Amino acid sequence: MLKLGSARKRRWVTYAPALALLLAGGLIAIDFDTWIELDIAALFGLPLVVAALSGRRLLMWGLAGALLVTTFVVYAQQIAPGSFSLREPFFLNRVLDAVAVLVTGGLLHALTLAMEQIERQNAQISAQNERKTRLLASVSHDISTPLTSMNVIAQLIRGNADRQSAGTDVARLAAMLEANARALAELFSDLLDLSSIDSGTVPLRETVFPLDELLREECRVLEPLAQEKSLRLEVDAPAQVRVRTDRIKLARVVRNLLSNALKFTEAGSITASCRRSGAAVEIRVADTGVGIVPADRERIFLEFTQLNGAGAGERAGWGLGLAICRRLVALMGGTIEVESEPGRGSTFIVRLPAGSSAR
Ligand code: ADP
Repeated sequence: MLKLGSARKRRWVTYAPALALLLAGGLIAIDFDTWIELDIAALFGLPLVVAALSGRRLLMWGLAGALLVTTFVVYAQQIAPGSFSLREPFFLNRVLDAVAVLVTGGLLHALTLAMEQIERQNAQISAQNERKTRLLASVSHDISTPLTSMNVIAQLIRGNADRQSAGTDVARLAAMLEANARALAELFSDLLDLSSIDSGTVPLRETVFPLDELLREECRVLEPLAQEKSLRLEVDAPAQVRVRTDRIKLARVVRNLLSNALKFTEAGSITASCRRSGAAVEIRVADTGVGIVPADRERIFLEFTQLNGAGAGERAGWGLGLAICRRLVALMGGTIEVESEPGRGSTFIVRLPAGSSAR
């Protein structure tokens, strides 16, 4: 149905300019032959309408110009010599016709602009719908795994309880159940965050604060995880770098980058640093982990992207963290990108406007 409609539209758009030219040519010929311009004045708009409907504004104004010129050329040829005056009724009619053609052209011009805007909005809406459908498909797929294992674990717990051989097994199974439930809760909270950022309802609460404090705070929270993996977690930040932005959102981005760095690094160190760069500030989270090949460096910022083998052996997340980071950073007026050397490590770089009162 849709395809047929668009094919028809394409055919119409192809032939419409020829039809508009034909109509205008016919009207001009009639005018030259018979001087019945007063009767056909109402028809002068027709070729313009046809040209406008095919979306060719230049052609429409070209035809309007041709009709205007012709109407006065015909008049000049047909009026009796010496009888011209500015108040001559036929001349006044021609002037009124010219005004009518110009007004019609103007209205049609505005109409085509409005139609184009609507078409653009429709295209945007269908792209958004497509994205939502893809998201929903990924979510349904990702939800089914933990739900199935929760079901299986619940059945095992029940079986154990029935056999009255509870003890350690039940505790272990309950812990697995809890981990699965927590993972699902995380997925839903990430999805809610994504959709609220996309809907444009998330407010920015800006304050001025020193970046080094924020980096140190976030590293302190994650220090136990770093110790668990025997990784060095370091901050390299001068005290005088201040920024005006939403502290909570920036903290969330930094935390996300740090926990990714911890997740994808097996040996070595993770360094959080910042510096002022002109009117911007730059935050870097560098690790000595697995790295990311060039082909994946943009892809990882898309929803539900997890690279093969990444985070093996541990809960790898949902592939939503960096998608949320990119949106939050964009909301704060900045950019995020990654530099990496596969096998040697990655550096995520966040650039933000420093903000007016940050000195
Ligand atoms: P997840 O929650 O699965 O980690 P993210 O959106 O945070 O999702 O990351 C997407 C993917 O990008 C990860 O699965 C991983 O493959 C890759 N990635 C992110 N950070 C790093 C890093 N510091 N080093 C190597 N790969 C990374």
